[in-house]
Amino acid sequence: DLVDLGLRWAPGFSALGPAFFTELQPRPLPDPYWVGVSARVADELGLDPSWLQSDDGLAAFVGNSPVAGSRPFASVYSGHQFGVWAGQLGDGRAIFLGETAGGLEVQLKGAGPTPYSRMGDGRAVLRSSIREFLCSEAMHGLGIPTTRALCVTGSDAHVAREQLETAAVVTRVAPSFIRFGHFEHFAANQREDELRALADYVIDRYYPACRTSSRFDGNAYAALLEAVSERTAALLAQWQAVGFCHGVMNTDNMSILGLTIDYGPFQFLDGFDPRHICNHSDTSGRYAFNQQPNVAYWNLFCLAQALLPLIGDQEVAVAALESYKTVFPREFEARMRAKLGLAEAAEGDRALIEGVLKLLAPEKVDYTIFWRRLSHGVASGDLEPVRDLFVDRPGFDAWLQTYAERRAGAPAAETAARMLRSNPKFVLRNHLGQQAIEAAGQKDFSGVATLLSLLETPFDEHPGHDSFAGFPPDWASTIEISCSS
Ligand code: AMP
Ligand code: MG
Ligand code: MG
Repeated sequence: DLVDLGLRWAPGFSALGPAFFTELQPRPLPDPYWVGVSARVADELGLDPSWLQSDDGLAAFVGNSPVAGSRPFASVYSGHQFGVWAGQLGDGRAIFLGETAGGLEVQLKGAGPTPYSRMGDGRAVLRSSIREFLCSEAMHGLGIPTTRALCVTGSDAHVAREQLETAAVVTRVAPSFIRFGHFEHFAANQREDELRALADYVIDRYYPACRTSSRFDGNAYAALLEAVSERTAALLAQWQAVGFCHGVMNTDNMSILGLTIDYGPFQFLDGFDPRHICNHSDTSGRYAFNQQPNVAYWNLFCLAQALLPLIGDQEVAVAALESYKTVFPREFEARMRAKLGLAEAAEGDRALIEGVLKLLAPEKVDYTIFWRRLSHGVASGDLEPVRDLFVDRPGFDAWLQTYAERRAGAPAAETAARMLRSNPKFVLRNHLGQQAIEAAGQKDFSGVATLLSLLETPFDEHPGHDSFAGFPPDWASTIEISCSS
């Protein structure tokens, strides 16, 4: 009962050899059913979405039927968790089907135990699988680099967490799932040959310009570190600008391609609170919203240490990290300028940006609604709805005055158009995900499909769906999301 997906497979990561992974088969789940499918990701893979939703597709993507041409495996990595070296981790519940000839790796997450499962069961529960599926596609819709999600399949098989829940499998897709932790693994074990093979693979496949760069006297590994630092800085700028809290920025959850990866207790801010902690397990606030840019740098430092045997010189490694400190503020300002509808940089922009964030924070003004209302306010000239969001009206009026002067030369329609393309109407708020999850638990998957369609094009108005763009209900703040998933 081999299923032919009609995909051609390429050697890809598996060509690195057995030191990097263990071959194994997914473990079946009883009576699987569809939870959600992304036609967009199907299209990118070259899969026909209607075929995909056949029984064959279901069997393949829940892990019940082997896929023609695929030799599944789980990869090994290590990492720092919450600032502490955790030793070997690895794909504890992710199983690679392989890489397509088009250069996309396909993984099943939750398809059973692997040699790297440690104490875990290799499973994922329905709620976290729906969250990962929707948020992957939401981030992509926002234009933020991310791993993608093709589909979620479910089964009524029980999975034990704090309570008994049911199992699900997410099919994830990305050009590469390589993490900082893959490098840390081989460095910590003094396996320099494998470390070099991994770095060479990443450079040749994903960062070929590092090979020919004259940066660092032609040291390709230093150039790689710099390129990863820059991509990570650009990613963090996007997270901070949109109000995305990742929640578990361990080094094993950092993509070497600068993608958002490993959706666990993430959250889009409701009210703007720089110190917000979205992960209920993060008691010290290590991964609080406003800590994320510093944590990313800390994680890059770990990557630098892992690459040190290849780079050869500590000072060069430190110099390669430096770019983070210039790229992050530059990219963050650029993103915030776009939110303000400003086409070009000008003196005083930083103060303008900091000024508005300082007004939002003490009152915890709803972050997404603020920016969307400001966009509509600039379009119509009626700024009352955005003013209404503040108790401190004089403070806000003073800021509005500066902002009005700053954009005085530009046509309001153009400014507003830029803003409406930069300030989403729809983000995956916790309570929206929660409602879709609860319905899905009753086998009603329409909420997942509706949310997916809104989040795929979050800058569009989607008439009739304003209830998905409103303030969170009071119960939203009582949702507790932890690492348990
Ligand atoms: P995370 O906190 O999601 O980054 O997971 C950290 C490590 O634990 C990774 O190696 C995961 O593969 C592994 N892991 C998490 N949950 C499970 C599970 N239910 N079964 C097996 N391994 C898991
Ligand atoms: Mg992880
Ligand atoms: Mg995880």
